[in-house]
Amino acid sequence: MKDTNSLYLSIDEEDIETGLCILDLLGFNDENKTEPLCINFNRIKSRLTVYQNPSADKQTYCLPLYHSVRCPARRYTQELGNNLTIPKLIKVSACVAIESTDNKILLARKTEILDLFPKYWGFPGGKTNHRENPKDCAIREAISQTGIPFKISPDGVWYSNQLVEIEPILLYENLYPNDLNIGLMRAQHVTMFFRAKIPVASHEIALNLQQNEIDFAVWLAKDEYDDIKMDYNGTLEGLLRSRRSMQINYSQLAGVAPNSIGEGISEGHKIALDIIFSAQ
Ligand SMILES: [Zn+2]
Repeated sequence: MKDTNSLYLSIDEEDIETGLCILDLLGFNDENKTEPLCINFNRIKSRLTVYQNPSADKQTYCLPLYHSVRCPARRYTQELGNNLTIPKLIKVSACVAIESTDNKILLARKTEILDLFPKYWGFPGGKTNHRENPKDCAIREAISQTGIPFKISPDGVWYSNQLVEIEPILLYENLYPNDLNIGLMRAQHVTMFFRAKIPVASHEIALNLQQNEIDFAVWLAKDEYDDIKMDYNGTLEGLLRSRRSMQINYSQLAGVAPNSIGEGISEGHKIALDIIFSAQ
């Protein structure tokens, strides 16, 4: 039974059938809702639940939920009424901002051939598997997409015999395309963002990028991110799948994806970067 104060997001595709804006469903009419929500992942029922009311359950995280200021799901209902072509299910996905001891964050570019988010820059991540905890999902995707040798065990995530500090940062209603002017919405995810601090410097980490999904990666520092936001010109030392280095222009990371050259950082990932870098 659903109660009116909860929104149930099904991981095992049995529960919710909607293409409506999740913030609308929760009754939030502000464009930028940042008030913390409580979320809980039930491994047995394989279900992520977003609550408006706090819970005493210690498995419950309290996180802010964001969506795009251009949220196409909200515009669907406002402009198109009931004549919608919408995704049938909201998927739960997860991603992780990996932070090195020299305070850089790993960003990867999705390959051009992907159906969803092609050439978008962001943290490694992907959809959860059946009964998979979002944190485990984020780390599993990070291992497969970047080759960083994390080890997932029942007592936590390890890197080179050290326990990795992982914290959830935010939830984001992730839509593709993320603008109704680009096309009708084909995918709707709730993405849980994590931050993982690894105990080594960025230059000490040998990346091994996954064929098909990721074609470039770059370690981004706060001052570089600030310069990119100011539209300054510059380059970063990026890495190709072949492990050769390559110059990445600031313009490739500028603005919200898709920018004028079809790249840019995914909007939710920019919100997470702002939170992480503002705390450094
Ligand atoms: Zn929305």
